[in-house]
Amino acid sequence: MDRALADELRAALGSARELLRELLEEGVGFERTSSSPPPGQEHRLEYPASAREASARSEPRASGVNRRAAAQQPTPPKQISLVDAPRPWGEHPSLDEVRAALGECTRCRLAQGRTQIVFGDGAPDADLLFVGEGPGEQEDLQGVPFVGRAGELLTQMIEKGLGVPRRSVYICNIVKCRPPQNRTPQPDEVNACRPFLDGQIDAVAPRVIVALGKPATSLLLGRDVSITRVRGIWQEYRGTPVMPTFHPAFVLRQYTAENRRLVWADLKAALARVRELGGRL
Ligand code: URA
Repeated sequence: MDRALADELRAALGSARELLRELLEEGVGFERTSSSPPPGQEHRLEYPASAREASARSEPRASGVNRRAAAQQPTPPKQISLVDAPRPWGEHPSLDEVRAALGECTRCRLAQGRTQIVFGDGAPDADLLFVGEGPGEQEDLQGVPFVGRAGELLTQMIEKGLGVPRRSVYICNIVKCRPPQNRTPQPDEVNACRPFLDGQIDAVAPRVIVALGKPATSLLLGRDVSITRVRGIWQEYRGTPVMPTFHPAFVLRQYTAENRRLVWADLKAALARVRELGGRL
């Protein structure tokens, strides 16, 4: 078999496996067929608890799930608890005000491991705002979001794909400090940082937000979502249209033509919406 085709098939199989894990995590049951192995001998789809450490922002992601248990006990959607922390700025803050209020933050444990805070990057009045998960190694070193491998892909998608300069959009993350080994930020860390994300959104006042990956999408939607299910479907966050899509690190890891096509379609839809709403991009 030709090598490119084999690579594509391998990546497509990986994507299908990820989707299956997500469905299992959501408690979607599967009927046992006569060819299923006897109870107790199922092939378990285990993910290490720290799956993201191995795959760096490996999205969609799931923890180890016992297939039978999941089928018998559908789990209700988890609600993300959001702390409505006081925001020490008015309705229309500037990015500088929000950054100043953040200060040399020690509100959560992520402060201990960071080199520096990675606040955000881009036009302070951008019509399109991207929200990622949290800084990785390169971001932590350089103090700028999305400058590592995933960042290069995001930048390419913005510049070559959408045809707009990266500096004309705004890019930030749900947490501003690098989680250890790039693990997924924990709810208390996300909650501690959330007022500052809200402050950034209020300051930039974008016409459209693109949520990159499951953690960013779950935060903005206020519930634990399956990114495979919600990507490409318009949502809203405090009155602003939100387009959820795959995280570029996931696209890098599952580099299939299909995943690239889906993200491309989502970004094009986001840009078209900006323009429909009178944006200047
Ligand atoms: N992944 C993210 O979610 N954010 C970054 O800034 C870099 C990688």
